Amino acid sequence: MARINQNYDKLAAGYLFPEIARRTNAFLESNPGAQVLRLGIGDTTEPIVSSVLDGLKEGVDALGSSESYSGYGPSEGISPLRDGLAKLYSERGLSLDPSEFFVSDGAKSDSANIQGIFSDDCVVAVQDPAYPVYVDSNVIAGRTGLASETGYDGLVYMPCTEENGFFPDLPTQKVDLIYICSPNNPTGAVATKKQLKKFVDYANEHKAVIFFDSAYAAFITDPDLPHSIYEVEGAENCAIEFNSFSKTAGFTGVRLAWTIVPKACQTEDSEAGKLHALWTRRQNTFFNGASNVVQAGGVAALSSGGRRQTDEQVAFYLENARIINEGLDALGITTYGGGNAPYVWLKTPGGLSSWDFFDKLLNQCHVVGTPGSGFGPAGEGFFRLSAFGHRENVEQAVSSIKEKLQL
Ligand SMILES: *Cc1c(COP(=O)(O)O)cnc(C)c1O
Repeated sequence: MARINQNYDKLAAGYLFPEIARRTNAFLESNPGAQVLRLGIGDTTEPIVSSVLDGLKEGVDALGSSESYSGYGPSEGISPLRDGLAKLYSERGLSLDPSEFFVSDGAKSDSANIQGIFSDDCVVAVQDPAYPVYVDSNVIAGRTGLASETGYDGLVYMPCTEENGFFPDLPTQKVDLIYICSPNNPTGAVATKKQLKKFVDYANEHKAVIFFDSAYAAFITDPDLPHSIYEVEGAENCAIEFNSFSKTAGFTGVRLAWTIVPKACQTEDSEAGKLHALWTRRQNTFFNGASNVVQAGGVAALSSGGRRQTDEQVAFYLENARIINEGLDALGITTYGGGNAPYVWLKTPGGLSSWDFFDKLLNQCHVVGTPGSGFGPAGEGFFRLSAFGHRENVEQAVSSIKEKLQL
């Protein structure tokens, strides 16, 4: 008799984005002809830059001749790409070995899969609010109980609030696996070195492991803010880092990412090198590598020409964020984020719940955003606007909010 993984039934009903789609479609049905402006899902909108497209095309062309054809590659990624990634980090003074970089088809899948090389009884801590996959992957793996209003039983929530500048205090109980996302989705907050140092020291002291998601590192403009957790002393002993070409190079549909497992990283019951070996084994067993065509595009994205063009695109999205912030500020709405991240995190005016504000913004302004409560209990009363969009759409959405939102 086959039986299902019952943990799936614990997942909180109505995943965020389907519920947004449901409400948006219901609105469109009762308001035929209305144009909805979408600042909801964090997906890139601008075309891939020419130097990266050239790399992708070279990857395709290489498949067309017997001299350059390649089939399966190393599941950890091709050497030029791993070398290029190590070089990227060396610009920030970090000496990571190319063999510590694992190329993959997504930071989402890696951040979901990483928990699989750790013991079932590890206690998990997440920032609240958080990118949903950190929580859901651990629910599915059976590390939590049931969900209630205050979140999943057995999961340690680290609230990110206005009071703490949207970066959490250390957990008061002992935890084993800690997820940190900086720049943060959804709040747009970026952790300082000092803030990260506290967690690194905690992890080294308690033999905990930090999963650091830096998918938005390229959006950091403040020169004092760390792009990688390895800029913090001691992090190589306790942290695994994820990053992605998705938001930087417009690869959300193309798919390419990387995970760093330093050889020095260890746990209570393992020596240095063991986690690196386990992740190698996990990837070799379950994964046959990222597409060779796409990896050629990744190499091009890391070239100097690729960097220049993708940096311009990142700056374009940051300008969108600035426009959103400026518009909301003019209305007297309190906003956070945006300066070093493609997300603006606003405090719902008049103390509205996140979903009530969603409905109000949709009905009055025809703008779709993302309710903060969908990212965790501490997101209640907040709302995320994404800066990914064509300029005219962002400007239209901001004007509509300024003209039509009844506060
Ligand atoms: C978009 C995003 C990613 C990127 O995931 P991919 O699977 O590489 O597209 C990772 N982490 C966060 C927090 C994100 O918002």
